[in-house]
Amino acid sequence: MPAELIDGVAVSKKVREDVSARCAALAAKGVVPGLTVVLVGEDPASAVYVRNKEKGSREAGMNGATIRMPATTSETELLAVVDRLNADDAVHGILVQMPLPKQINAQKVIRRIDPAKDVDGFHPVNVGKVLIGETDGFAPCTPAGVQVLLKEAGVDTAGKHVVIVGRSNIVGKPMASLLVQPGADATVTICHSRTPDLAWHTRRADIVVAAVGRPGTITGDMLKPGAVVMDVGINRIKDPTTKSGTRLVGDVDFASVSPVASKVTPVPGGVGPMTIAMLLLNTVRAAEQRAAGQGA
Ligand code: NDP
Repeated sequence: MPAELIDGVAVSKKVREDVSARCAALAAKGVVPGLTVVLVGEDPASAVYVRNKEKGSREAGMNGATIRMPATTSETELLAVVDRLNADDAVHGILVQMPLPKQINAQKVIRRIDPAKDVDGFHPVNVGKVLIGETDGFAPCTPAGVQVLLKEAGVDTAGKHVVIVGRSNIVGKPMASLLVQPGADATVTICHSRTPDLAWHTRRADIVVAAVGRPGTITGDMLKPGAVVMDVGINRIKDPTTKSGTRLVGDVDFASVSPVASKVTPVPGGVGPMTIAMLLLNTVRAAEQRAAGQGA
């Protein structure tokens, strides 16, 4: 029997409806959540993400804005923009789209964002809060979205063994931080490119989270029957049968995984739509916290 599909589009819609209702409640108090995205350079994939973030924030009833800066922008110029947004009371969430051009130190920029406006959840203060289990900070959107998807799909992580493939600061590590907390209560293994015999680990997993950036990394023979598979990967591969000549795939070999897994996220339509929904949720939370007189 093929695995049940976890519908990220439907779950993200539910999250967005909650965000819209919370925006409306804030608007009644005269507060309009503001999300400003800063895009430096003309990376085509980043431009698409940024457009979708602005569109999503407006649809939810926020003031969505994008500041576009040339690829030649200096670190000082970008830091000055961040300072201005930190000081702007109409802005509740700031997101500097990654990757940044080589002349700019991304960590320096992330650290400059006011943690109370860091809706991407990359500032060390928010990273630390997630790790120590404080819930008034902001968790990174993609792993937070995976956790919501698991809950909505009726997958209880308590006592389960979760194997995360990938140890990036934006997906793998925060995913582990979230799932190991009391309440989530998973037993977590993190694998990466230096892990010998990846399949040995994944075959022991009740839940596999693939965040690698390499198509076909997880195949059906690497899974325990009935495992739940969350595919974070977004990879564009050549496909002459499509009009554009390319198509999006995840890190999971869907054809071999589906007959073995109990549930799996598709790509597209799985984890992807959750990322923007969680960004909007973080932004409305930032506005609510400010309205209530608290900061991160
Ligand atoms: P990174 O490149 O930062 O990290 C990839 C991780 O995978 C690294 O830890 C790397 O190990 C590990 N890895 C690489 N090859 C192997 C291998 N053969 N076996 C085991 N581990 C391996 O990627 P990101 O975390 O930023 O993104 C991962 C994927 O998720 C990408 O496809 C990206 O496009 C997608 N993504 C999707 C999002 C969404 O909204 N759905 C949001 C963010 C990312 P090492 O550390 O040793 O190099």
